[in-house]
Amino acid sequence: MVLTEKDAKQLDRDDSLSRFREEFYIKPNTIYLDGNSLGLLSKRAERTLLESLNDWKEHGIDGWTRGQHPWFFLSERLGEMMAPLVGAEVDEVIVTGSTTVNLHQLVATFYKPSGKKSKILADELTFPSDIYALQSQLRIHGFDPDTHLVRVKSRDGRLLEEADIIEAMTDEIALIILPTVLYRSGQILDMNRLTGEANKRAILIGFDGCHSVGAIPHSFSEWGVDFAYWCNYKHLNGGPGSVGGLYVNKKHFGSAPGLAGWFGSKKEKQFDMEHTLTPAESAGAFQIGTPHILSLAPLLGALEIFAETRIENIREKSLKITRFLMDLMDQELSDMGFSVGNPQEDLRRGGHVSLEHNEAARICKALKENGIIPDFRAPNIIRLAPVALYTSYSEVWTAVQVLKKIMVEKQYEKFKNEREVVA
Ligand SMILES: *Cc1c(COP(=O)(O)O)cnc(C)c1O
Repeated sequence: MVLTEKDAKQLDRDDSLSRFREEFYIKPNTIYLDGNSLGLLSKRAERTLLESLNDWKEHGIDGWTRGQHPWFFLSERLGEMMAPLVGAEVDEVIVTGSTTVNLHQLVATFYKPSGKKSKILADELTFPSDIYALQSQLRIHGFDPDTHLVRVKSRDGRLLEEADIIEAMTDEIALIILPTVLYRSGQILDMNRLTGEANKRAILIGFDGCHSVGAIPHSFSEWGVDFAYWCNYKHLNGGPGSVGGLYVNKKHFGSAPGLAGWFGSKKEKQFDMEHTLTPAESAGAFQIGTPHILSLAPLLGALEIFAETRIENIREKSLKITRFLMDLMDQELSDMGFSVGNPQEDLRRGGHVSLEHNEAARICKALKENGIIPDFRAPNIIRLAPVALYTSYSEVWTAVQVLKKIMVEKQYEKFKNEREVVA
């Protein structure tokens, strides 16, 4: 069956999430397919940011406890709002820090090398910041990252096999850190299975959820995941530098935070100003210092939108619209040197399509010149993320037609095949 523009329009009419599109600032004549790097601003996120600024204007110091969004409880309140997105109880999630800082906190808390059980298991495809954090944590403990950071190998440079990861869970491993969804290929790891295997071996396991939270459902608590951390500026549309998310399984409440600070206090105790920390009996214990209020505030509005639908509905559309994109690529651009680098099965693919092409860097530049916003990951990947809340099927249709024109006319040849500073 040949797909046509009419099909795209019909899919838009049938889209039960289409009402959310008008909530977002979408620039005319651009098609934004980069919501997996930085989600777009919604009117509600803008509103809650402005309300928080106004709380400052109106209340000064009293904004901590008064005003529309009292700052003292904001991280906890946002944790509650986020809990359904990760399958957690409300006090198991806190919005604090950033991805990398939260990873440091969690490793400082949960990495307890003992005798031979002293290594950390990660993978060779993971995001560099996570690796830097793990290497430095190992050094702090006096270990050599070359021997103590074990990286599971990929068989094809794109995907990881769960069986290979499980095989690497030896009795030398104290802690496992893995992505929920791989940032390049978009592969979803089987978190349930991996957690089960780690639990069986008494190895703690934590996940980096940057590319999955807000895009796919999770059941962290049901699966028995020990901890997780993620950023809120990608699929959750919290804004550039938005404060991150942190999950700690209830069974670990009461663990002393590795990196302690006064915002980890039990709320009622914090202003007693004692020199002995009384940690919160929740994920809140893993906060460090004063939260970045103006980078938390947009999340109030951004998460309101998620509360009006179900993450399962978001996932359903995401699967459908990414499949539509892949089918169109197949139909329109099959002989242009592209290959799809993400897994094909729905269970194993996340919220973006990962196209590989030798000229990827300059094809991305040509796309941008034509008003299509992709992102490029060196050396040869074009990531395209049609976002369930605001991308339409018609936009995907147009994006593929534009890409076809770029390829047929070889428009990309006028650009250098090199990445930009930020790519
Ligand atoms: C985006 C991303 C990060 C970014 O970390 P920050 O501390 O927010 O800069 C880390 N890990 C993964 C997998 C990411 O996709």
